[in-house]
Amino acid sequence: MEFLETLYHEIINFLGISQAWEILSTKNYDALKTYNGIVSLISPIIPLLIILELILGFIYKKPQTKVYKVNFIIYIFNRFIGRFISIAMVAFCIGLFQSYAPFQTSLTWYWFIYGYIIWEFGHFIYHYLAHKVRILWCLHSTHHAPEDMNLSVTHAHFFLEAPYADTIRTTVCILAGLQPELLFIIMFIDGTYGAFIHVGENLLKDGRLGFLNRIILTPSHHRVHHAKNPLYMDTNFCNLLNIWDKALGTYQNEMDDIKIEYGITRQMESGNFFDVYFGEITALLKDVYKAPGLKNKLYYLFMPPGWSHTGDHKTARIVRKTYLQRSRLISDHIKS
Ligand SMILES: [Zn+2]
Ligand SMILES: [Zn+2]
Repeated sequence: MEFLETLYHEIINFLGISQAWEILSTKNYDALKTYNGIVSLISPIIPLLIILELILGFIYKKPQTKVYKVNFIIYIFNRFIGRFISIAMVAFCIGLFQSYAPFQTSLTWYWFIYGYIIWEFGHFIYHYLAHKVRILWCLHSTHHAPEDMNLSVTHAHFFLEAPYADTIRTTVCILAGLQPELLFIIMFIDGTYGAFIHVGENLLKDGRLGFLNRIILTPSHHRVHHAKNPLYMDTNFCNLLNIWDKALGTYQNEMDDIKIEYGITRQMESGNFFDVYFGEITALLKDVYKAPGLKNKLYYLFMPPGWSHTGDHKTARIVRKTYLQRSRLISDHIKS
């Protein structure tokens, strides 16, 4: 009985319907007009879309079973460990840094815009470092392992990634004067939109969202981010406003003639939970063990993935540069 009760609560929790259910059962409909009421209505959208996308996958006979299976195991695993670490880190960073902020924002529309730009900057820093520092890539690579894209990928994370991401993002925002209430509103919008950009082709064939593709970061841009094609690697680090990608030179559009290949460049078994979750850690430990001297061992930890003590580097920057040089040579050759 206890097992069934736990299962029931887990399903309610996954679907994000507990608050809405409470409002409906107590008939306290006025609560829907409050911030919490709006949150309770928006929270179930992504979980319901995940189920719809799963069903459509079976109807279209593109079930992406491997991705769903592994992401389901990751979801269960993460529910058991690391449940509260991220929330604790947010509270800790607010307490630690709030007094160092030069000013405090209030809840107005212009501070909201300011806050979102700052939040995106914090997100950019966390995400950029997660791709460029190998030990941090070990935390982030689980999210890039799936070889198909669908909404379940939003749950594919190593359990320590959220605390790491939230420490950086919260610290940046609090030091820039964001009051916690404003930060939590932005976190909620970012979490919901950040889940939506993983929508797969079974639910949304063209992820460009029309003219929005020129203004904000769309599912198409995030599909590019998840690609291992040389042109697409390590681009589009933002979440909703891609101003920092555009300003800092990491922006890349989806090209009609370059079909996205999802996944990471290491040879791996994307259907194996242990390889998806711990594979990069094992690969790093092997490289550190084999590297000659302490300096090289430390370099493996902190240099970008693909760095080699032999000098034969295969980092995303080098792979992309080589690709661009080669395609420029080919187009020059065709012209002449
Ligand atoms: Zn990433
Ligand atoms: Zn993603």
